[in-house]
Amino acid sequence: MISRLYIHVPFCASKCGYCAFYSIPCPSSVSIDRYLEKMGNDFKDSSRLCGKIESVFIGGGTPTFLSAGNLGKLFSSLFSHFEISASAEISIECNPETLTAEKADLIAKFANRVSLGIQSFNPKFRKILGRQGSLKSIDKAISLLSGNGISNIGCDLIYAIPGQSLDDWRDDLEKATALPLKHISAYSLTVEEGTLLSERMSNVEYRISNDEIKHNTNDRRPTTLLRQGFEGQADDYSIRMWNLASSLLGKHGFRRYEISNYSKRGYKCRHNLEIWYGDRYLGFGPAASSFDGKKRWTNISDLEKWLSGAEPDTDIISPEKRAREIFVMGLRTSHGWDKIFFLHRTGFDLEILRKEIRQLINMKLLLETGENIRCSKKGLLLWNEVAEMLI
Ligand code: SF4
Repeated sequence: MISRLYIHVPFCASKCGYCAFYSIPCPSSVSIDRYLEKMGNDFKDSSRLCGKIESVFIGGGTPTFLSAGNLGKLFSSLFSHFEISASAEISIECNPETLTAEKADLIAKFANRVSLGIQSFNPKFRKILGRQGSLKSIDKAISLLSGNGISNIGCDLIYAIPGQSLDDWRDDLEKATALPLKHISAYSLTVEEGTLLSERMSNVEYRISNDEIKHNTNDRRPTTLLRQGFEGQADDYSIRMWNLASSLLGKHGFRRYEISNYSKRGYKCRHNLEIWYGDRYLGFGPAASSFDGKKRWTNISDLEKWLSGAEPDTDIISPEKRAREIFVMGLRTSHGWDKIFFLHRTGFDLEILRKEIRQLINMKLLLETGENIRCSKKGLLLWNEVAEMLI
């Protein structure tokens, strides 16, 4: 039986410049009502596939863009159709400027983990990213959540923003560590085709016409490198920022447990960890993916078509290829795989990958002991290349 749920709320106040997720800026109230009605029906239809729910992740989009009344409906529907374990981890993403006292109260009632979309504290870089809200809204959101007894609060940050120096990044990290946070996700900016930021960057060589992006002395990367996060080809600049995150956050008690994720002791995101380790889950909402241990399927990234019942896109691959894929995803974690756990989860012995594993060990990208196999630091940085060799 499935014990993990992902819920995609595809609505946002506006579209951020770098956003490549499926999200609808300024939706009509009719669209939101129809979305909530279908979510309720989908919950009802799928609940028989699930046992006791151990984790729920409500992401987006911006879940807290929903009004308090609508957020309450979503939570009530979820809790009425599924049996949620008393110890379940219930995470919700929240953009600080959309949080109100009423929503914080609801979150405290139904959820126990909040991830704040901060991205940067620096107004200049927030503007480049197209983030709404102010620094005041971040402080207000944290005091509303803390005041309602929610202590498990984390945030997302972005680095390698055009024009951002190492000192700018250090400043963002220090500001984050000054907040009462338990978890920090730090992602390298990837400028994806089709985003507003990609359009703006392609108009000029090194700067956006209104001088938002400066080619300053600390940032002499050519435009092509600005377009790559380390998950593509790691460039020196991203690596330095990645290393800085690890050392600075480490000094404040945050340990890296996945390529881009850091937490205080006891505050790893249980939901995401289980997904990286290939556990089964059901996803609800447009663009949401599900995995039943064998096949993966993804709902259509189109609200209207999803509302009309469009079939999801299903990815069926051989059991061995799926096991390889699960192995690769688990290698995103700092701990990597205990061999016995991989066998238990996939039914495959890691010996099926012996040839590739040997090569990767020779390249110093993987480390192996009798019981465990994991990426070296270099392997984490070059995870994409490791993945390519293994799948
Ligand atoms: S808030 Fe998140 S999902 Fe919404 S537009 Fe911005 S980056 Fe995209």
